[in-house]
Amino acid sequence: MGAGQAGLSAAHHLRRTGFEPDRDFVVLDHSPAPGGAWQFRWPSLTYGKVHGMHSLPGMELTGADPARPSAEVVSGYFAAYERAFDLRVRRPVDVRAVREGSGGRLLVESSAGTWSTRALINATGTWDRPFWPRYPGQETFRGRQLHTAQYTGPAEFAGLRVVVVGGGASGTQHLLELAPYAAATTWVTRREPVFREGPFDEEAGRAAVALVEERVRQGLPPRSVVSVTGLPLNDAIRRGLADGTLDRRPMFDRIVPDGVEWTDGTAGARHVDADVILWATGFRAAIDHLAPLRLREAGGGIRLEGTRAVADPRIHLVGYGPSASTVGANRAGRAAVRDIRRLLAGRPVAA
Ligand SMILES: Cc1cc2nc3c(=O)[nH]c(=O)nc-3n(C[C@H](O)[C@H](O)[C@H](O)COP(=O)(O)OP(=O)(O)OC[C@H]3O[C@@H](n4cnc5c(N)ncnc54)[C@H](O)[C@@H]3O)c2cc1C
Repeated sequence: MGAGQAGLSAAHHLRRTGFEPDRDFVVLDHSPAPGGAWQFRWPSLTYGKVHGMHSLPGMELTGADPARPSAEVVSGYFAAYERAFDLRVRRPVDVRAVREGSGGRLLVESSAGTWSTRALINATGTWDRPFWPRYPGQETFRGRQLHTAQYTGPAEFAGLRVVVVGGGASGTQHLLELAPYAAATTWVTRREPVFREGPFDEEAGRAAVALVEERVRQGLPPRSVVSVTGLPLNDAIRRGLADGTLDRRPMFDRIVPDGVEWTDGTAGARHVDADVILWATGFRAAIDHLAPLRLREAGGGIRLEGTRAVADPRIHLVGYGPSASTVGANRAGRAAVRDIRRLLAGRPVAA
């Protein structure tokens, strides 16, 4: 379930290896249209600004105009992909819970009825679970607070003083976009941001993914792959560092009605006035519907071996943890299908 990059990759590999849609598998997706979470991304996130979107398996995305919103480019491409491979995604279908059924089957309860299945590929991404940290005084703030998931572009912040929280790619992109519109911007992050010089080669990519993979193997909640790769030093970031837009301050200690405050004034002013706090603080895996299966470990994550849940070999998580990137999602879809074919054929899945 889920028809983003990870779910479509899995559906493609099911189809390619002889599974028929509607007869042998269904893809359920609760978004209104093709595109996965990309369809909800802000219009100023043009295709030229995304970090490297890998094509889905078997059909390249070529010739996309870098000035077009990535939401349009990717939604159009996913729609064409679903048609080309006849994946018959059912939408909008909201999966509400997955439970143990009878005879070793799982019951998938949704807004469009209940399916009974021998295996499940969970590809529900993170967009539906924006993460908002809590800080003292947050409820007293008189201005507006919003999360990246609600950001629609810089124009609505014209003339306002904005505090952007978060050291990831979204935070820096928000700041660079907002700076020409806002009356003032302030950037705060929990950790010192790490900027990465030079191209991100395959070896560095593998090392970053391995770090996230290790957490998932231990049953800890995954961190985003981006959090371990660092921020690429592109021209826009260089300009932002040079002109002060990306002058980072440590995390504030509390929120007050008219701004944010630091107890220790050594890193600059103790108080910054703010009309808006924009939380670019990331997302968590949208997997609440799996709760009845009790897959979570004491550490808070679901322990995986590859894409397979260690506690239940019928369940695969793709686009989760180490596979939460477009390239990772592609590979995970293929790996999950390979493993499920073994399971259904009665062969050992651990091989
Ligand atoms: C702002 C932003 C920019 C990014 N840029 C890049 C980039 O440049 N390059 C890159 O590699 N990665 C990027 N990423 C990460 C990237 O988006 C993902 O790794 C990948 O596209 C996610 O694919 P997915 O299939 O796992 O999830 P999604 O695209 O989120 O798809 C999940 C689908 O599951 C559906 N769903 C969720 N819950 C349910 C439910 N209960 N029932 C039914 N359906 C459900 C959703 O509606 C959605 O359609 C970015 C992420 C963000 C937030």
